[in-house]
Amino acid sequence: MTDRSTSGTRPLADCSVTLGITGGIAAYKTTELVREFRRMSIGVQVVMTEAATQLVSIHALATLSERAVVTHLFNPVLHQAGDGQREGISHIQLSRNADLFIVAPATANILGKTAAGIADDVLSTAILASNVPVLFAPAMNVEMWMNSIVQENVAKLRAAGYQFIGPEAGDLACGEIGAGRMSSPRDILDAALPLLLERAGGLRVLVTAGPTEEPVDDVRVLSNRSSGKMGVSLAEAARNLGHRVTLVAGPLRCSPPVGVDRIDVETAEQMKAAVEEHEAEADILIMTAAVADYRPKAMTPGKLPSGKEETTLELVRNPDILAAVAPGRAARGATTIGFALEVGEGGRERAERKLESKQADMIVLNDATRPDSAFGADTTRTAFVLPGGDFEQMPVLPKADAAKRILQQVEALHHGKRAPGH
Ligand code: C5P
Repeated sequence: MTDRSTSGTRPLADCSVTLGITGGIAAYKTTELVREFRRMSIGVQVVMTEAATQLVSIHALATLSERAVVTHLFNPVLHQAGDGQREGISHIQLSRNADLFIVAPATANILGKTAAGIADDVLSTAILASNVPVLFAPAMNVEMWMNSIVQENVAKLRAAGYQFIGPEAGDLACGEIGAGRMSSPRDILDAALPLLLERAGGLRVLVTAGPTEEPVDDVRVLSNRSSGKMGVSLAEAARNLGHRVTLVAGPLRCSPPVGVDRIDVETAEQMKAAVEEHEAEADILIMTAAVADYRPKAMTPGKLPSGKEETTLELVRNPDILAAVAPGRAARGATTIGFALEVGEGGRERAERKLESKQADMIVLNDATRPDSAFGADTTRTAFVLPGGDFEQMPVLPKADAAKRILQQVEALHHGKRAPGH
């Protein structure tokens, strides 16, 4: 666990990337990449080689990135100086303004030039002048990629600290099949976000999400209707705030977020093992998972016969993951948040008892009696159950907004613990 406070953390919306586009046919896919970054409010400065401008429209990229595209060494680039915005020398500002330099698609040419230290246009010059992490997404014909000279260049670049995503194997634009296809914009984003988050300086957040599935036999499971939406929304919100997130996910009924480390599990015992393995490094643990309280005492190999009129399934209690890890976490100043889904009268009191018995820092109480706050819904009505009888009721909110509000509260709790005198 780190001893960082969140005060130095920058949200993703304050981060920016320089996106270098070279002349591979995959250049057209970068419009989607720019859009994905802008959806997260991450700044994008596009810089293109001459060949790239023949393959994808400068105008489209300028519109999507909301910034003028740099194509020449002598294009001015605006940068933030102490007293306002100033024009700077483009190849220097292209990396100084950014937290990450991405080159996608990266041709054999740009890899070769960088490996050889050649700076003969604005992009190659900016890469050499860069003082931020550089991520290459290579794309080329399979024979080019397998060429030993290209492979030597890649090895040399890796050894020098340059990072790579892809290429993938598949059908190539040239009609051949093999390694050389640029990774998808989503995979590039997935590789880029952790690098950005490292620079954002946030905390380590571990989130559990979704249901668990407890096997009855080889084809049947005991489970519940949790969709995982709340946990996924929390993971996304934490990522957007600049935190590095690990998501321990049961079988989700929603899309997992990009840019977080994901560990897939099925049973409560697998979830416990994953949480125990990763919680030591997590400043904050948020247990949204609807862990099955019981599992079949024995898993029957094959398939239980289905012809009987009546049958009995013997169940045993699953371990309480939260209760197992929270006391140790409390002792070392880490923050632990539980969720409680309550139905009927006395929910608040039961959540208060859980807060105490599990030794969590907060229980988020979920009112499951309402259709707009049930498992699987897109909205939720939560309340914060805090030590000392403090209680804060939230209105019905979309899960993404509830997640932001919950994280504000969690960050405040975590800060409070770390403030002098605590
Ligand atoms: O006691 P109850 O199951 O209502 O507590 C809910 C909280 O405890 C949730 O945060 C849930 O993720 C966690 N939990 C757990 N292990 C279990 C059951 C619940 O960590 N076996």
